[in-house]
Amino acid sequence: MTPQELLEKNNKIADENTDIAKPDDLSNFDDISQGVRVIKEGDIKRIVVDRQGCIGARSCVVVAEDVFKMDEMDLAYIDDPEAYDDDTVKLAAEACPVLAIHLYDGEGKKIFPEE
Ligand code: SF4
Repeated sequence: MTPQELLEKNNKIADENTDIAKPDDLSNFDDISQGVRVIKEGDIKRIVVDRQGCIGARSCVVVAEDVFKMDEMDLAYIDDPEAYDDDTVKLAAEACPVLAIHLYDGEGKKIFPEE
């Protein structure tokens, strides 16, 4: 599967999931890659990469390489949203120099970056 196909597949799964609430601010982003977490225990239920904000620094990939991958445009996308626990995913989001990774709980409330 190409990065674009994987991105679209994960976005579709996330869009169609009715158990995990949609965050209000999702419409603020024009180009996202998102993944929902239905298996992993913990608070983080949705991971969103704001691809317009991504500068290709790859810090997220270094911290959580199976969750985040780089496409041919050097933008991060979600590969397997369930690959790591909450702590590792949060570390990856914190490592992003431009805070392009947004984390939400099951009610659609933002966990990171804190507002
Ligand atoms: S760390 Fe942030 S800027 Fe760097 S690739 Fe990941 S999302 Fe993009």
